[in-house]
Amino acid sequence: MKYDKFKEHKIQRTCDKHFNVPKKYSPYLEKDFQGRCCYCNMSEELVTVPYHVEHFIPVKAFKGVKDSLDVDYNNLMWSCPKCNLSKGDKYQGDIANDSGIVNELFYNPVETDYNEIFYRNELGGISSDDPKGREMIKMLKLYRPVHNLAWLLERLEKLCIELEKQKVREKDPERKRLLEAATGAVAIKCVKIEREFRAVYNGKKVFRKEY
Ligand SMILES: [Zn+2]
Repeated sequence: MKYDKFKEHKIQRTCDKHFNVPKKYSPYLEKDFQGRCCYCNMSEELVTVPYHVEHFIPVKAFKGVKDSLDVDYNNLMWSCPKCNLSKGDKYQGDIANDSGIVNELFYNPVETDYNEIFYRNELGGISSDDPKGREMIKMLKLYRPVHNLAWLLERLEKLCIELEKQKVREKDPERKRLLEAATGAVAIKCVKIEREFRAVYNGKKVFRKEY
């Protein structure tokens, strides 16, 4: 069931520099992709590991055929380590004759609006009604619970901030008290989900605690 859109932001390429090493594009990619993985949309603020410069057309596919793709900004993506690892060398296309940045196995995250392919289901997980989108979910392992938790955590954080703002604005003492109680309850939930997220992200067992 469609519950929410996949993501809120739009990726826009603004870098006009040219470097001879892919990694040098990191700060530009981070800015243009708003610090989010182009495939799973996870914010890098949630994890402690650095994000990767990812080749949309993988190195193995273009090496010796179209080497310029190694530092072509349009072929570089900002990806979380897990998606980068899952994507690996997966490629389909005609490297010598394709014009543009084409890897038929994946929708290009900059040229395609992922909101038209993916959505959030009622559990916050990533779903798609599109056959290629579904294949991408399998290949990139976007079905992992870590994505549900990342989505939920961000929503709870937003809710917490919104409740706090409302509480500050509220003049009626009874309503203020209720808002304070609600903010506290959401904050506790936030801490719990964050703990679960970290455990799941790091492949650890989740010890459920009662609060
Ligand atoms: Zn990712």
